[in-house]
Amino acid sequence: NVSIVLFTSDLRLHDHPPLRAALASAPEVVPLFVRDQAVDRAGFAAPNRLAFLADCLTDLDAGLRARGGRLVVRHGDTVAEVCAVARETDADEVHMAAGCTAFAHERERRLRHALEADGRRLYVHDGVVTVLPAGEVTPAGSDHFAVFTPYHRRWSAEPRRSPAAAPRSVQVPGALRSEEVPSRTAVASVSEGLATGGETKGRERLTAWLSRHVDAYEARHDDLAGDVTSRLSPYLHFGAVSANEVVHRARSRGGAGAEAFVRQMCWRDFHHQVLNARPHTATQDYRTRHDRWRQGKQADADLRAWQAGLTGYPLVDAAMRQLAHEGWMHNRGRLLAASFLTKTLYLDWRLGARHFLGLLVDGDIANNQLNWQWAAGTGTDTRPNRVLNPVLQARRYDPDGAYVRRWVPELASLEAPLIHEPWKVPPLDRAALDYPDPIVTLADGLGRFRRARGED
Ligand code: FAD
Repeated sequence: NVSIVLFTSDLRLHDHPPLRAALASAPEVVPLFVRDQAVDRAGFAAPNRLAFLADCLTDLDAGLRARGGRLVVRHGDTVAEVCAVARETDADEVHMAAGCTAFAHERERRLRHALEADGRRLYVHDGVVTVLPAGEVTPAGSDHFAVFTPYHRRWSAEPRRSPAAAPRSVQVPGALRSEEVPSRTAVASVSEGLATGGETKGRERLTAWLSRHVDAYEARHDDLAGDVTSRLSPYLHFGAVSANEVVHRARSRGGAGAEAFVRQMCWRDFHHQVLNARPHTATQDYRTRHDRWRQGKQADADLRAWQAGLTGYPLVDAAMRQLAHEGWMHNRGRLLAASFLTKTLYLDWRLGARHFLGLLVDGDIANNQLNWQWAAGTGTDTRPNRVLNPVLQARRYDPDGAYVRRWVPELASLEAPLIHEPWKVPPLDRAALDYPDPIVTLADGLGRFRRARGED
């Protein structure tokens, strides 16, 4: 008999409970990936992610081939395609990872219903995409944690599954139709500096980063130019590395750097458990604050300047240009860019989240939307009125201006701290810089924010 493994956000062979369960239940397994237009319509289809996805699928196929199998790719509606493959192979069981979005919940429900109507079973495995299954730890009287610190405490104390090795061999039924595995070269408008996807690259990065950089993580994770964070986020987003294994390996290494890194990994689980319990927070405020976000012609122009990295605030612009060039942005840059859009320009966080999702290779509903809400003060942040000052942030996290110099070449001739305040350059030299004046003064931005929130 035959089992099917439906791959979704878990494009790997190591530490993969659905694949192990399928292999344990049947001698032959169909490793299936469905390219579903509905996923694109749900917000997935950004060129950077499509390119990275193609890398991940190519690598997954190669890994399966090295074990005697191959990846089967179909195009169409996931439920219809899984049912068709199940009929073609007479598979009894389908295994897949549990998802956290409203889209994933609905897909699971439809798939279970359709398979059961055909006399087959769907097994949905928890804790494949996140370290702990979303919803496993909850406070008394609620279905999710709204505050990070108590969640982190409970999360840290929970027992963990030991990461499992990749299977040695995967036998796939012979006469089974498959579309071609997508290729990155077929995707247009990809960011020039986009990383290469796939489990092989992800595991190499994990091993190299843990041995070289993790010890410096606690002290230097906010150093924008130093760039010492793991950059594992796209591999985690596509499940090319297992979050459970990443945490396990960091913990086995030990030390303050590893502990600080594991804490960030907990943020990822935290946002997933919020979204799992409150799917509408992908688009609606977690805490309703009745913000009257700015609208109109000037607001539109401000949004365009922010998107283009032309706000006149060098650190904000550097971060936005890194996003466009790499499809990735340093966390400190994301925090500042989001604070600037929502609290200085006073524009709706959904506009910023949409722009990020259009470019981020790691862009996902849980982490992107809920971090945006956190930064905008509509989410789970316990200090919603904190406003990040781009000049002070620059002095602190880019003290010699190297990050700005890398991404805003117009200012490369300036030394720090002047590079962070080019409006202070004497007028004649200033005109030669070809860099815009600030689109708003910080005092005006702050006044707008306070008035809108009814603070004065
Ligand atoms: P590291 O510092 O090496 O951290 C390790 C891992 O921990 C990351 O790969 C990530 O999976 C997780 N992590 C770290 N910080 C956070 C966080 N604040 N929230 C959730 N998980 C975290 N992360 C995404 O993966 N996808 C997104 O779409 C996304 N959008 C964001 C939008 C905004 C406005 C903000 C402020 C943050 C966003 N983040 C997002 C979180 C964070 O910025 C990135 O995960 C991180 O910068 C990725 O780089 P890294 O892998 O080097 O992180």
